[in-house]
Amino acid sequence: MNLKAQLLEYFSANQSQIRTQVISLVTEMVRQKTINVVSDKLPEFPFLKFRGEEYRVADIIKRELENSGIDYKIFARMEGRPNVISKLGQGRSGQCLLMPAHMDIVPAGEGWDTDPFEVVEKDGKLFGRGTLDNKGPLASILIAAQVLKKLGIDQELSGELMIAALSDEEAEDPDGINYGIGYLVEEKLINPTMSVVPDIGGDMLEIDVAEKGRTVIRITAIGKQAHGATPEKGVNAVYMMAKLVTEIEKMKFRYEVHPVLGHPTLNLGEIHGGVASNIVPGTCYIYIDIRAVPGQTEKILLDQLQECITKVPVGDFKVEVLSSNQPHAISPKVELVRKIQENAKEYLNLEPQAIGQGGGTYAKTLCLNGIDAVGWGPGDGDAFHVANEYIEIKQLIDFALMTCLLAVDLLA
Ligand SMILES: [Zn+2]
Repeated sequence: MNLKAQLLEYFSANQSQIRTQVISLVTEMVRQKTINVVSDKLPEFPFLKFRGEEYRVADIIKRELENSGIDYKIFARMEGRPNVISKLGQGRSGQCLLMPAHMDIVPAGEGWDTDPFEVVEKDGKLFGRGTLDNKGPLASILIAAQVLKKLGIDQELSGELMIAALSDEEAEDPDGINYGIGYLVEEKLINPTMSVVPDIGGDMLEIDVAEKGRTVIRITAIGKQAHGATPEKGVNAVYMMAKLVTEIEKMKFRYEVHPVLGHPTLNLGEIHGGVASNIVPGTCYIYIDIRAVPGQTEKILLDQLQECITKVPVGDFKVEVLSSNQPHAISPKVELVRKIQENAKEYLNLEPQAIGQGGGTYAKTLCLNGIDAVGWGPGDGDAFHVANEYIEIKQLIDFALMTCLLAVDLLA
């Protein structure tokens, strides 16, 4: 019997056992409050000693891998924030597929109907913080690894499959130091040739092949402070900023429409200025968030903002780039995408389409480092970071099967 037939038979013969296993794994992981927020917000979560505390989930993953006899390595930039990388296959062909999911979560927030950290099963769905983002998909790929091992299919893979449970996806401190994918890539600790990142939702109907770049900029208007009774002696920074904001709103990006990503966007998200009604404000600043398409370099963006600034007659402006990454796009025709589409069609009767998105996932970090990475996975894209986050159990089981089939197609 060929490998794919063997996998299909295993999944259909063991549906209820796999279902029980996926539910218990997700439940156990969701109980771990691996909340990742920026350090400034840490005091709001007194039960956390440090951001993330991903070791709590990593311990579960390690136990599961050990019980299944799957080899793994741990890489950690900091104790307590590990990355668990399991390896299956011979690793002879040079092909290596990385499937990473993150162990950290965003805070529960408000508006939940049930305890966010106690999984509730209802109508074939699991509700709880992290069920979708990203502990459910993590359980799914872990089970895929266990099935491949159990059936001895890992021995038939001449390439390598890396199922990875990573830290530090949900928040970034101003120091920019990353403990997850950024760390692994910067330190060259992993070297995959391709990757599927199950962290976009889309119910397995969307394959994220392109992501916009993101540039966050602070612009400060520098006027001159004065007594509120003699405004003529000062330069009002709020008036300056008001003029600049009008120019920015009118600004037309110079770019070419991207076939998948479409148009760039700009959001003016914050404005701050002034201290008291009887003081002429000396400074005023805004934060803007630009999502760029390929071709729009940081220099082009800054040049365009500078053109807006020159239209404001008085005062100085300071422009600071707080963070910036480039857009990326891979061809929707690569083998990785084709195999996802073929398997989804043949075994799930789904027709996933190549899409682009404005946010950044692990796929961006990987693609910018030369690795063909796409986002594809189970779950409702609207259920991320909201109250009553959920995932469909059937999708988790289907995704485990898809992971196994993809490994066979790409690595056997
Ligand atoms: Zn996520």
